[in-house]
Amino acid sequence: MIQLIKGFKDVLPGEIEVWQTIERAAKETFENFGFQELRLPIVEKSELFSRSIGDTTDIVEKEMYTFEDGKRGHVTLRPEATASVVRSYIQHKMYAKDPIRKFYTIGPMFRRERPQKGRYRQFYQIDAEVFGIDSPYLDAQLIFMLATLLEKLKARDVKAHINSLGCPCCRPNFQKALKDLLDAKKESLCENCLRRSEKNPLRVLDCKVPSCREAVEGAPSILDHLCDDCREHFETVKAVLTENGVDFEVDTRLVRGLDYYTRTAFEVLTTSLGAQNAVAGGGRYDGLVKALGGPEIPAIGFAIGFDRLAEIVAMQQTIEADGPTLYIAPLGDAATNKAATWAMQLAANGVFCETDFAGRSLKSHMKRADKLNAAHVLMVGDDELDRGVAALRNMATKEQWDLPLDGLVETLVDRFN
Ligand code: AMP
Repeated sequence: MIQLIKGFKDVLPGEIEVWQTIERAAKETFENFGFQELRLPIVEKSELFSRSIGDTTDIVEKEMYTFEDGKRGHVTLRPEATASVVRSYIQHKMYAKDPIRKFYTIGPMFRRERPQKGRYRQFYQIDAEVFGIDSPYLDAQLIFMLATLLEKLKARDVKAHINSLGCPCCRPNFQKALKDLLDAKKESLCENCLRRSEKNPLRVLDCKVPSCREAVEGAPSILDHLCDDCREHFETVKAVLTENGVDFEVDTRLVRGLDYYTRTAFEVLTTSLGAQNAVAGGGRYDGLVKALGGPEIPAIGFAIGFDRLAEIVAMQQTIEADGPTLYIAPLGDAATNKAATWAMQLAANGVFCETDFAGRSLKSHMKRADKLNAAHVLMVGDDELDRGVAALRNMATKEQWDLPLDGLVETLVDRFN
């Protein structure tokens, strides 16, 4: 028996209802905030990710599923969505019509991480990106939109953590101060951080190795190194969030794993999932559109970890699939023949309808209707056919009515739609 690969999973009925609920809520929420859906390829040129995510990130260093694809060279299963959204925005010159564009996209991402609870090699993200607006009001609005979705899904134990990563004008000052500290603590740093302290010292703040955590304990705060513009931007983000009732805390250690962030960075963390506690993450990336060959256009976005959000929602509430509105229980061949047509016509006209062709007894039909959790059962046998009626029973109240076979489908469609 061939089993699925470790780190990959099937989402089955029983679990899928939660996924569908989340997807519907995300679409509805995001569309109310003016977002349009994009569907993007899962495979892109590897260079897109190495150039945008950054060569010194975990993702690019060791987690990408990359393979050679003949003349196309190296291609990669996308590890995240932002790079593809930006590629698409630039490639189709979407900015020409209107630089302000808001997109969301939902789909699988691939990272060759060590599989464990909450960390998969194929996982799903709900991704939202906005181009063309550099105002801090937008940063706050995006975090508010994320909080709105989580509230709609009744996800408890979640909190937004925010930070500012400065801009190319002020970040180097902070990087220098941090690097001085790291140089003095070299012996405590893990191998990864030793390397990163040279190229990208901010990433050391993100390291989970205890000795690295200790080493950066007295590290300077990036917020003390922001330029006036970045400080004002961050102050406005915080003020607007507070004014609009978003629960957040400032976390000066939050740097995010990818290189392209500028200014506002944020994550939504939960206390419900153990070690893998990040439910969503995002931030501003004002330089990326230009870095990937487009015009100088600011942008910001976030990605929700769909798998983790589904786990939280499933833990905190029960969402079950609806049973059929109607189960048709035919007794005998003539009735089965009629039931087949009625069931097809009803389903085609918007009534969730099931039947069974196995020639069951009435008792067996009722068992099956119960198993399917049908709201109503329509019983019809030779006797009913002779009388020109069928018996409809409401399974909850046990009330029963005879309905004329003449115009039966129309009657039922009217009744249930
Ligand atoms: P990132 O782009 O790494 O910040 O990812 C955004 C969100 O995706 C995270 O906050 C997680 O919820 C989710 N995520 C990232 N990697 C994985 C993974 N390997 N398995 C499941 N969810 C993930």
